[in-house]
Amino acid sequence: MKKRAKGEWLKAIIWLKKTFPATEPITVRSKLRCKIEYKALGTAYFCPESRRFEVTIASDQIFENCVLVLFHEWAHVVTWHKIYARCIIRRKKESFHNKEWGIAYAQIYRSFFETKPIRKL
Ligand SMILES: [Zn+2]
Repeated sequence: MKKRAKGEWLKAIIWLKKTFPATEPITVRSKLRCKIEYKALGTAYFCPESRRFEVTIASDQIFENCVLVLFHEWAHVVTWHKIYARCIIRRKKESFHNKEWGIAYAQIYRSFFETKPIRKL
C-alpha cells in the first residue's frame, strides 16, 4: 500500500467501525505478509486478555486489495459471537466462512460501494 493511500485507509477503518461495529473493540494493523501467520493476506483474532479483536492486513499488496481483505476479516469479527455461541452449545467446530460470514461480507461490500466513504476504489 502506498503512503498516500494512508488517509483513505484510515477513513475506510473509521467507516467500518461506525457502520459495522462488533461486540468488542477492533484493532487494525498492517504488516508485511512474511510477518503474518501462514503468510496470509489478512488475519483476525480475538485476544482474551485485552478483550479486543485484532485484525492484521498484509501491507505489501495494492490499496484496493487491502480494503477487500479488510472487509473479509471484518465480516469475521462481526459474526464471531454468533458462531462461538453455537459452537459452545453444540460442542463442535464450525466453519468460519459460513452463511453468516457470507451475508456480513456481502452487506459490508454492498454498503461500502453504495456509500463510497472513500474516494479510491
Ligand atoms: Zn476468512
